[in-house]
Amino acid sequence: MTDKKTLFIDGKEVEFTDEPNLLEVIRKAGMNVPTFCYRPDLTSFGACRMCVVEVEGRGIQSSCTMPPENGLKIHLNTEKTRRIRRTVLELLLANHDKKCLTCDKNGSCELQQYAEEYGITNIRFPDKSLEDYLPVDDSSPSIVRDPNKCILCGACVRACSEFQGHAVLGFANRGSKTVVQPMNGRPLGQVDCVNCGQCVAVCPTGALTIKDDTEKVWAEITNPQKTVVVQMAPATRVALGEMFGLKPGENSIGLMNAALRKIGFNLIFDTNFSADLTIMEEATEFLERLKSGKDLPLFTSCCPAWIKYLETQHPEMLKHLSSCKSPMSMMSPVLVDLVPKYFNIARENLVVVAVMPCTAKKYECKRPEMYRNGRPDTDYVITTKELGKMIRSAGIDFNALEPEDHDSPFGEYSGAGTIFGASGGVAEAAVRTAYEFATGEPLNEVDIKQMRGTSNRSKTVSLVIKGTKVIVRVVSTLKEAEKALQEIKSGKADFQMLEVMACPGGCINGGGQPTSCNDSSIKEERAEGLYKEDSELPVRKSHMNPSIQKLYQEYLEHPGSHKAHEILHTVYTDKFAGSYKDI
Ligand code: SF4
Ligand code: SF4
Ligand code: SF4
Repeated sequence: MTDKKTLFIDGKEVEFTDEPNLLEVIRKAGMNVPTFCYRPDLTSFGACRMCVVEVEGRGIQSSCTMPPENGLKIHLNTEKTRRIRRTVLELLLANHDKKCLTCDKNGSCELQQYAEEYGITNIRFPDKSLEDYLPVDDSSPSIVRDPNKCILCGACVRACSEFQGHAVLGFANRGSKTVVQPMNGRPLGQVDCVNCGQCVAVCPTGALTIKDDTEKVWAEITNPQKTVVVQMAPATRVALGEMFGLKPGENSIGLMNAALRKIGFNLIFDTNFSADLTIMEEATEFLERLKSGKDLPLFTSCCPAWIKYLETQHPEMLKHLSSCKSPMSMMSPVLVDLVPKYFNIARENLVVVAVMPCTAKKYECKRPEMYRNGRPDTDYVITTKELGKMIRSAGIDFNALEPEDHDSPFGEYSGAGTIFGASGGVAEAAVRTAYEFATGEPLNEVDIKQMRGTSNRSKTVSLVIKGTKVIVRVVSTLKEAEKALQEIKSGKADFQMLEVMACPGGCINGGGQPTSCNDSSIKEERAEGLYKEDSELPVRKSHMNPSIQKLYQEYLEHPGSHKAHEILHTVYTDKFAGSYKDI
């Protein structure tokens, strides 16, 4: 007796198990129907009607909302389904700003793609009138919102609420006046948006885009007076290649170094180096707190979206936050202080650029805490996507490049530095070092696999360090972080460290990465790429990185020193929820 369940798609018998809807069964069988509003990581909305199929005996159905049933006979491309999809496209296009040539999404817009695939050359409905056009909102340091390109798919509203537990974006008005807008109709830069960019990642059109800083970076690169140095975050190397046909997770760091040099960056360093530096400081801080029992659990502080969430929603819990700056914001002051000395460059001619998977880092670099002597330590943040565009616009054949190495001395890193890019990586790296700092003995089992995995957004791991039981909670998304905060507030929390990454799965799935919203397995493949690099590196613990040891000997003295506190640590403060004015 078998409980095998099957249905028929265009006459082909297809097996299914626990897929939540017909659309997933169709995709698993290697076929497809178009959709705007469906995102596998979000709840089904059934709003756009692009995924309609004809089900024998049931008529037209949205495949994203209909559960699969044994024996169903469905047809994907009938005269009726194609007619409905064409009508949907025409209605959307009639109401859509059509300045495609100057749109940031030109070439990757799903509306444009389907209009081309369905041969829409003529729209039967009248264009929206000029008085219905709404102003473009570029008040956020990270995101540009153009409501005239919104097709009301609701993906951004669901991403904000289901990932971040936030209601920054919502529907307003009714009927033909319906819009998606930030809370109370205010500009995005004046609400409690944490700049995570998850809304941008799921938006199928140019209605939400990343604020583009590439022209500013080009201007610095082409200025002969300037020495432009660059650092790139762990997660960028396993995603950039996707823009040039490489598989997700394929580590393209050598090609990336070569491309950055060809673009014209003068010195190439690596944020993985300062991820190791972060661990030196954070592991020390963690051990101090464990010893004193004060302000536990310690919250990690690498994610600017998480920091802003805490500042605006739970300022009374800021004492738990590690005082460590993020790896990006530790690297930049080190570069600003030491590159002029090592390479004989005047500080005023030094420009620091960071390539990040993250839209929130554009906000972080502008925070007053990241300024010294009236200037930010990180001058510009560009995302992985923006770097990909720079490579293309420079006419560089990415795959034909010869891999190159980074520059010294701020390019060498351990495996612990590289796994920062995946949820659980910061905690795993911290434990590797904290264990050896506390016991003085080698940690033989370096892989802490219970902390890994991108699909489980909340993990609790118990460890023993020097006879003491230590419990670490690893969460991704602010929705999961909120649950952990409530446990602490109610006195039920038993963990001593809380790692929070705002993006589901961590930075590998950041809002600045090449889009992955239609295939959630991409996250796992990118994470695997980082763990693979970790397993292959000769040094896998941050404190064993010889360049880090040298930096302490020559400049920082020891972890937690006065000098280290001066440039690598900061203090975060209450940002008054609801009245936050962004940078
Ligand atoms: S950036 Fe993040 S917090 Fe802000 S609106 Fe988008 S999803 Fe919400
Ligand atoms: S802004 Fe983008 S994701 Fe949000 S509803 Fe409009 S088209 Fe959809
Ligand atoms: S998880 Fe990473 S990519 Fe996402 S907001 Fe935080 S730091 Fe940025």
